[in-house]
Amino acid sequence: MSAPTVFPLLPGATLGVLGGGQLGRMFVHAAQAMGYFTAVLDPDAHSPAGQVSHHHIRASYDDAAGLAELARLSDAITTEFENVPAAALATLAALRPVAPAASAVAIAQDRAQEKAHFVRCGVPCAPYAVIETAAQRAAVSADLLPGILKTARMGYDGKGQVRVNTTAELAAGWASVGAVPCVLEKMLPLALECSVIVARGRDGSMVNLPVQRNLHHGGILAMTEVYKSNMPPALMQQAVAAAKSIANGLDYVGVLCVEFFVLQDGSLVVNEIAPRPHNSGHYSQNACDISQFELQVRTLAGLALVQPRQHSAAVMLNLLGDLWFGHGQGNAAQTPPWDAVLALPGAHLHLYGKQDAKRGRKMGHLNITAATPEAARATALQAAKQLGLPAF
Ligand code: ADP
Ligand code: MG
Repeated sequence: MSAPTVFPLLPGATLGVLGGGQLGRMFVHAAQAMGYFTAVLDPDAHSPAGQVSHHHIRASYDDAAGLAELARLSDAITTEFENVPAAALATLAALRPVAPAASAVAIAQDRAQEKAHFVRCGVPCAPYAVIETAAQRAAVSADLLPGILKTARMGYDGKGQVRVNTTAELAAGWASVGAVPCVLEKMLPLALECSVIVARGRDGSMVNLPVQRNLHHGGILAMTEVYKSNMPPALMQQAVAAAKSIANGLDYVGVLCVEFFVLQDGSLVVNEIAPRPHNSGHYSQNACDISQFELQVRTLAGLALVQPRQHSAAVMLNLLGDLWFGHGQGNAAQTPPWDAVLALPGAHLHLYGKQDAKRGRKMGHLNITAATPEAARATALQAAKQLGLPAF
């Protein structure tokens, strides 16, 4: 259809993104800051990324005309969420460079394939069984109980998961998710959770952000803290090495987040991967000299990958829709006290432009930066109190 793409794509080129959520919005912001044009495909007229992009194609992810228009406008295309239909990525890849590749996204979309990849890379994950048939369910080893049953596809923020203690609960739990393909994972004794963001270029070069320590509430990320003393150094090195070998094994191009568990015996276990920037990497917008979204721009455009440097200790607080409902039960909409929060030193507010606050919906995040971990934590605790978030 046109001449082959020549990398690097320099500012002035147009970068496309499949999906218009908050991750796409922050990618668009980073790309535009560097002088790129942007094109977003998302069905929602008010999508967070569509609102701020030069071009917004309002079409569903399987709309052939919409995909063709995205390819026509863009010099290269990325995705901002992993549940895009694999066929959409394949359609686009026939027309324009797409990163990450459909094959890597397909692995991240399916917990069974994802775990098989961890095993191939020699990175330990939780003991598990794939359950696709009633016979496989009945044959599950009692060693995997108590466990967590997770749908193989489409799960996020703890959705599509059932905790099961007995074989009877497993049978009921599998029925409750519609008997779709699942993995059953052994419930592990967690000491902490962490994640690593790596960026890998077309030439195989790799850089990483520092190891992030994460706190979840109800299966949703609540807080991330990043500074040298947040984990033992040997574990950090192990996590970075494991994340890089997982990215290498996928021949990955783009930004990849690898989530880990640290068990009570001090061992490191990989949990899951996300083929895109991740909520736990948002602190990098204000605490690092290169953010995860700039890394995404650089990998897509084929620019040099320069190792990011964290210049400030950081705490990130997620701002869920619950904050708009106050402390009572009612539906009364209230605006969180942004003025008080923004009076705190090192507070950086990021809101995604979503119109309706819903409980559990990610509306924004607050990055707190400071010269020391102690100061970052103290300020983050003050912000949490002002917002009505639990202390950590
Ligand atoms: P999601 O795709 O929703 O993020 P995860 O597989 O990361 O799903 O699970 C969400 C959270 O549930 C994890 O961050 C962790 O707190 C808890 N969890 C998941 N799997 C296990 C496990 N095998 N053992 C203990 N806790 C787990
Ligand atoms: Mg997770």
